[in-house]
Amino acid sequence: MEFKEYSVPAIRRLLSQGQASAREICRLFLDSIERRDPQVRAYIHWNPEAALKQADRIDQLRQEGHPLPPLAGLPMAIKDNISLQGLRCTCGSKILEHYVALYDATVIERLRAAGAVFLGKTNLDEFAMGSSTENSAFFPTRNPHDLDYVPGGSSGGSAAAVGGEMAVAALGSDTGGSIRQPASFCGVVGLKPTYSRVSRYGLVAFGSSLDQIGPLAGHVCDVAAILGVIAGKDPHDSTSLEINVPDYLEGLNAPVKGLKIGLPKEYFRSGIADVVKDRIDRALRKFEELGCALVEIELPHTEYAIACYYVLAMAEASSNLARFDGVRYGLRINGGNLRDMYQQTRDAGFGAEVKRRIMLGTFVLSSGYYDAYYLKAQKVRTLIKQDFERAFERADFILTPTSPTPPFRLGEKSEDPLAMYLSDIFTITANLVGVPGISLPCGKTPEGLPIGVQLLGRHFDEKRLLNLSHQFEEAGGFSP
Ligand code: GLN
Repeated sequence: MEFKEYSVPAIRRLLSQGQASAREICRLFLDSIERRDPQVRAYIHWNPEAALKQADRIDQLRQEGHPLPPLAGLPMAIKDNISLQGLRCTCGSKILEHYVALYDATVIERLRAAGAVFLGKTNLDEFAMGSSTENSAFFPTRNPHDLDYVPGGSSGGSAAAVGGEMAVAALGSDTGGSIRQPASFCGVVGLKPTYSRVSRYGLVAFGSSLDQIGPLAGHVCDVAAILGVIAGKDPHDSTSLEINVPDYLEGLNAPVKGLKIGLPKEYFRSGIADVVKDRIDRALRKFEELGCALVEIELPHTEYAIACYYVLAMAEASSNLARFDGVRYGLRINGGNLRDMYQQTRDAGFGAEVKRRIMLGTFVLSSGYYDAYYLKAQKVRTLIKQDFERAFERADFILTPTSPTPPFRLGEKSEDPLAMYLSDIFTITANLVGVPGISLPCGKTPEGLPIGVQLLGRHFDEKRLLNLSHQFEEAGGFSP
């Protein structure tokens, strides 16, 4: 069986028909990591013994004739800002380089109970701030399709692990596109669920009103199966909501004929690379072949979205990162007094992008500037939300490119933060508004670099979003 044929249902089949053991499947992926990761560098640290132990537990269940849990034997990679008890949780930062998580994040607890196997923790832009994984304090990750290119970010390690056949699925976090953009750069599926669909307990916070954990995988059915396990109310996260979690897998074969897909005219105006435009056009034809109707919609406040997102994300980050002070977690550099210790610890522990954001975030929250920046950005956020509410009256889904360009070269944007921020234009609004968004592969550049198409849905409409995505995949939309 080829690597890309491994999926949640395929693994279940192999296990239940006795064609492979969970240990063999786990070993296969551990070997692949050993072979490929020295070049790609998707993982910060691996977890081979514990992974094999988890796999053995599944094999034991099998031998004893117990029913298999929903994700039995699924080899997964976990972004290194999600806590796994007893393993380091570095967040790609020097300040947490040696920090060991004391508890499992709720998503991990649920995946564990569902039989998933954790292969290791993946690289990310420091504290998830970036779009290329070059901001990791340790090393950049490379695009598995071409090592000279970035895998996207900030969940670049997770996307590269899946795209590079070093995991069947992964978890990432998405504050402004960090699941969807790397998914598109690495040719995999990536879902950011509705804000409050999935518990954030155990995710190291970046922008608490924007962050969501979500799955990346090679197939829509994997993403659906994983979401079904991790979604739902959690008493440890007061922003998670008590809303019924439907059976996402079972929902994958519903008709899509007559669904309306909105195309925001502001998004298609300019600034999109020709090759992206071409692949998106082909994707649109596929949706039409499936019987969907394309309708033009308006999102008039789009031009303020980047500024709005960066003011809010930086403000929240500056507050969230105040906890890393040398006293309670991670690195400590002793100075002559308390203030020196704070200063020296934070100076040595944080990288340039994180410092930039803490400074800007503190500035927009400071007295005298709060009204002009932070408060105004909150108001703009409401206007953007209203744009989406109106758009969703006309359309069931909204379609955009995931990123305006194909993957870029390592180093191409790392000296120019603004260029990096601007490339988030299509993904940040889903976080500002809270709606779910998925990136699906929709072809490649002539050089073989993947391109992604993004679908956004209404709040908590993941079931229909996944179904439409699945129909697109089945119709051959992934490789037009
Ligand atoms: N690229 C965006 C940023 O740098 C989004 C990051 C994310 O979603 N974590 O803020």
